[in-house]
Amino acid sequence: MAKILCVLYDDPIDGCPRSYARDGIPKLERYPDGQELPTPKRVDFTPGELLGNVSGGLGLKRFLKESGHQLIVTSDKDGADSVFEKELPDSDVVISQPFWPAYLTAERLAKAKKLKLAITAGIGSDHVDLKAAAERGLTVAEITYCNSVSVAEHIVMLILSLAHNYIPSYQWAVDKGWNIADCVSRAYDIEGMSIGSVAAGRIGLGVLKRLKPFDVKLHYTERHRLPEDVERALGLSYHGDVESMARVCDIVTINCPLHPETEHLFNDDLIGKMKRGAYLVNTARGKVCDRDAVVRALESGQLAGYAGDVWFPQPAPEDHPWRTMPHHGMTPHVAGTTLSAQARYAAGVREILECWLEGRPIREEYLILKEGRLAGAGARAYTVGNVTAGSEEARRFRAEGRPLRPAAVRRARARPARAKRKAARRVA
Ligand code: NDP
Repeated sequence: MAKILCVLYDDPIDGCPRSYARDGIPKLERYPDGQELPTPKRVDFTPGELLGNVSGGLGLKRFLKESGHQLIVTSDKDGADSVFEKELPDSDVVISQPFWPAYLTAERLAKAKKLKLAITAGIGSDHVDLKAAAERGLTVAEITYCNSVSVAEHIVMLILSLAHNYIPSYQWAVDKGWNIADCVSRAYDIEGMSIGSVAAGRIGLGVLKRLKPFDVKLHYTERHRLPEDVERALGLSYHGDVESMARVCDIVTINCPLHPETEHLFNDDLIGKMKRGAYLVNTARGKVCDRDAVVRALESGQLAGYAGDVWFPQPAPEDHPWRTMPHHGMTPHVAGTTLSAQARYAAGVREILECWLEGRPIREEYLILKEGRLAGAGARAYTVGNVTAGSEEARRFRAEGRPLRPAAVRRARARPARAKRKAARRVA
């Protein structure tokens, strides 16, 4: 029997939806480059329903129960007294999502004596100290491509939102105003602008393809250059280094993984070399940017706007300066966990678990480390190192009294509000 420890985000404050906004999600045949979608033997969930939360359990509960394995699902992940730390020492497998990451630091790995496999339900395994994991001979796998298109779509939305000043204009509408000059005094078209992507992997290339019809000038920088026909078809200008690209772009979108080479890549120096009034969109990882350099650049006007969904640590403490800096379009980490993406990564996790439990090889493209060595997607996009330093700060989120309250308590608290809303509807 294997013990599988799964860390997922909390249920919605009002409890899980009884019905959804749409009756399902489109059925895809393959990923854009032809890669096969996840191929578990079976799934026990309805695609299009919440799966990444504690109650959703990635749709794994029945499968693991029936096959005699132990599954612990929790959102309580930070601090020495967390469920995660208590259950870790005798767990064989840890499953975690980048949206609500269970940081697997060297200290935690040292306590996880039985751990053999860490699965990222999503893409981006930087919450694992890959150096320590490699030394321990662990396998680390993620669900390559599961949400790359979700993020590419999200980035296009963020670029347009920043340039067109959408969020402040929306706020004027909510605040019952009609302040057109206030709305538009920071609004621009992106047509004719230069837009550059740091990396042209699955997300980066997806963004470049989606931006082509906007009549913009497209740039990218990468370690492995794209084939010439792809560059030609999209009209891409290649830059051998990030600085040369950043200098000429009006908008930069960051799409590389976080590893020692990219940690704090966008610091005062690099941001200072960008055009004044450039926009920076980061849906890769918070730590690719220097937190305070971003704030300084927005305050001085060096950056006209910054948007993204990734922070460090996660969840971000209440006083994280990106919550209050000017001209930002931040959300919690959501881009890659649409209901559409959840169905794919839940199926991918099930595929990996089925393989591992049955002693079959895990698909090469899912691998970051295989028994301690860079492999598969990891061998191409990562360097072995540790970028989890400082992750213990995530504990402060709870210390400040934000959710991690048990779901039942939150539901009970939400009840009077729901009753009030219902009563108001009845009166209306
Ligand atoms: P891919 O592996 O397809 O692409 C990553 C690319 O980054 C590779 O092409 C790699 O290039 C490139 N790269 C690595 N290091 C560097 C570097 N130092 N400079 C320039 N390029 C570099 O992954 P995805 O596109 O699917 O995802 C990328 C990242 O996006 C993930 O690692 C994750 O951090 C983040 N992400 C965020 C999500 C969200 O919800 N916000 C969801 C999913 C992912 P090469 O092959 O040449 O080495």
